[in-house]
Amino acid sequence: MAGVIRRLDEAVVNRIAAGEVIQRPANAVKELIENCLDAKSTNIQVTVKDGGLKLLQIQDNGTGIRREDMEIVCERFTTSKLQTFEDLSAIATYGFRGEALASVSHVAHVTITTKTADAKCAYRANYSDGKLKGPPKPCAGNQGTQILLEDLFYNVSTRRKALKSPGDEYSRIVEVVSRYAIHNSGKSFSVKKQGETVADVRTLPNASVVDNIRGVLAMQSAGS
Ligand code: ADP
Ligand code: MG
Repeated sequence: MAGVIRRLDEAVVNRIAAGEVIQRPANAVKELIENCLDAKSTNIQVTVKDGGLKLLQIQDNGTGIRREDMEIVCERFTTSKLQTFEDLSAIATYGFRGEALASVSHVAHVTITTKTADAKCAYRANYSDGKLKGPPKPCAGNQGTQILLEDLFYNVSTRRKALKSPGDEYSRIVEVVSRYAIHNSGKSFSVKKQGETVADVRTLPNASVVDNIRGVLAMQSAGS
């Protein structure tokens, strides 16, 4: 007997699509770091709790997101990096598809706090399933953006069960941050567990690539 073909719910489609982009916390870290670099940040700080499954926070000092754009920033296919198909031939950013923030918002609780250079204050807003949950609230903050992901995969129990080792997930996150830190001399990076004062990887803004390699390797051997 043939099965009945049904159209999937939009929420189900989006959650499945999100799972292809974000399979584990380290994938989210990669996407969020690339967004910081695209926003011309020179300082990127990553804070992690329970291997990123409980909390993953990325703070930068980049351009920020305009208050007017906060409404749609987590919707699928919304981007400031591409307008026409032809733009693709000259793209100079990591991102252009507008899928990363949408994806994380379908598998985690997302809070964005951001301030542009000309805004009088920062704004904070919560998102889930691609949508803004209430009007952005004014708050204190320096120029730049903080993306906070809480309870990653709270709504994907199979994924949560597959990621049993927060220690292993944390190592993968440190690995991702290390790679971007080494290659981006002139920018400073750090990654630490929430509540710790000492970072597990830290690079300085005036360091060369060789300094960065030396620093990251020294911290890796001290940590393991
Ligand atoms: P993409 O990077 O492909 O444009 P994303 O979903 O990663 O898509 O981000 C959507 C948009 O949100 C970006 O185009 C950018 O305008 C804005 N954005 C995301 N992260 C940051 C950030 N850290 N600083 C400034 N703007 C950001
Ligand atoms: Mg992106």
